[in-house]
Amino acid sequence: MTLPEQTFDVAVVGAGPAGAVCARELARGGVSVVLIDRLKPARYKTCGGGLVRRALGLLDLELDGVVDKECLHAQVNLIDSELSFDLRDSSPVVTTTMRAAFDHRLVQAAEEAGARFLAPCHLRGLEEVTGKIVLRTNEGPLAARYCVAADGAASRTARAAGWPENESMIPALESEIRVAPADYDRFAECARFDLGLPTEGYAWVFPKKSHLSVGCVCRQRGWSTLREDLETYINHLGLLEHGTREDHGYVIPIGPRSAELARGRVLLVGDAAGFTDPVTCEGISWAILSGGLAAAALIEGRAEPGLTRSAYHRLLEEHLLPELRTARKLARLLYERPRLRTFAFKRFGQSLCELMVRVFSGEATYRGLLRSPRNYFKLVGKIAGLT
Ligand SMILES: Cc1cc2nc3c(=O)[nH]c(=O)nc-3n(C[C@H](O)[C@H](O)[C@H](O)COP(=O)(O)OP(=O)(O)OC[C@H]3O[C@@H](n4cnc5c(N)ncnc54)[C@H](O)[C@@H]3O)c2cc1C
Repeated sequence: MTLPEQTFDVAVVGAGPAGAVCARELARGGVSVVLIDRLKPARYKTCGGGLVRRALGLLDLELDGVVDKECLHAQVNLIDSELSFDLRDSSPVVTTTMRAAFDHRLVQAAEEAGARFLAPCHLRGLEEVTGKIVLRTNEGPLAARYCVAADGAASRTARAAGWPENESMIPALESEIRVAPADYDRFAECARFDLGLPTEGYAWVFPKKSHLSVGCVCRQRGWSTLREDLETYINHLGLLEHGTREDHGYVIPIGPRSAELARGRVLLVGDAAGFTDPVTCEGISWAILSGGLAAAALIEGRAEPGLTRSAYHRLLEEHLLPELRTARKLARLLYERPRLRTFAFKRFGQSLCELMVRVFSGEATYRGLLRSPRNYFKLVGKIAGLT
């Protein structure tokens, strides 16, 4: 591949939802932008592929052909206390997709808006050289005035730009399983969440077009114990393999990096910044949101790095960081205090789950629920000393 010699306004590294949305918004704003990914589309991405309504609401994009299932029904089970709650809505609580197809659609939208997309193009390092960033890639150098690190939880771009490792990472496992037709039918219409297995985490079943995504995530486990937890869960569900099964594992950042999120001419977005909801480990909507905020900051700051950085930090404080801080406290309550969790779900389980759906859908925020009078979230927050 021959790399373009021009100096772009912005180079975005990583074409997941954060990077693709950022590139699209920049191109729409008239900014010259190059988006690179180490893998060609449509590459496999380890993910449950569960899209909440908040994520869909942030994307003004038709997703025809990339949606696997629209689950109007979700179920929350507390395995350790044998409680079960059903949620039904007239619009999907969770929409499922395969990330290869979903991310490819987002990249196409960025290209349609005018972004230049290069793949496979692997970032190896970067340097700031007199008013621009030079990206070292396996294909040669690329120059841009700014760089957006959208290359996921293990972001090489962030490391190359001097950020330390994000220490708030937890392991997650996911299995794409083809099951017997009768088993598939049992799970085909419902997004299922099981709390209490693993002990300080949860497990899920998301139906795809013709198979199931089954996975688990845990705040306190190493990989080998998590593997045992996944087998226990699959047995608990009574699933019999019927064809292929592919297991994948990766990490999820459950807290933003502690340092600033823009430095010099580099901005961090999505998992690279550590933006996932620590309660649900849902990261796609935060990736989309932060990609859009970084684009807005770059357009607002234009050629002035100090202005761009302060615009980005301001936008994150206005739209994202306070909510993730509150979510972090709620996650501790949910996963680290099982007796309080059981008490709260025994008393108010159905209402708590319904309120969670409102947060999922973007109609409410954790912060708003903890503040607003007469709701069960607020009461639980009070008992746990969060308000
Ligand atoms: C097992 C598991 C299940 C999950 N399930 C869900 C779910 O159901 N719903 C949900 O909302 N979230 C889920 N998440 C979280 C979600 O996957 C992430 O939050 C989301 O993908 C973050 O998007 P991103 O764009 O920041 O990064 P990513 O989606 O990770 O994209 C990063 C991109 O950067 C590219 N890249 C990496 N390194 C380089 C490099 N050096 N040079 C060039 N390109 C590079 C990669 O190829 C990739 O395309 C799950 C995570 C895991 C691990």
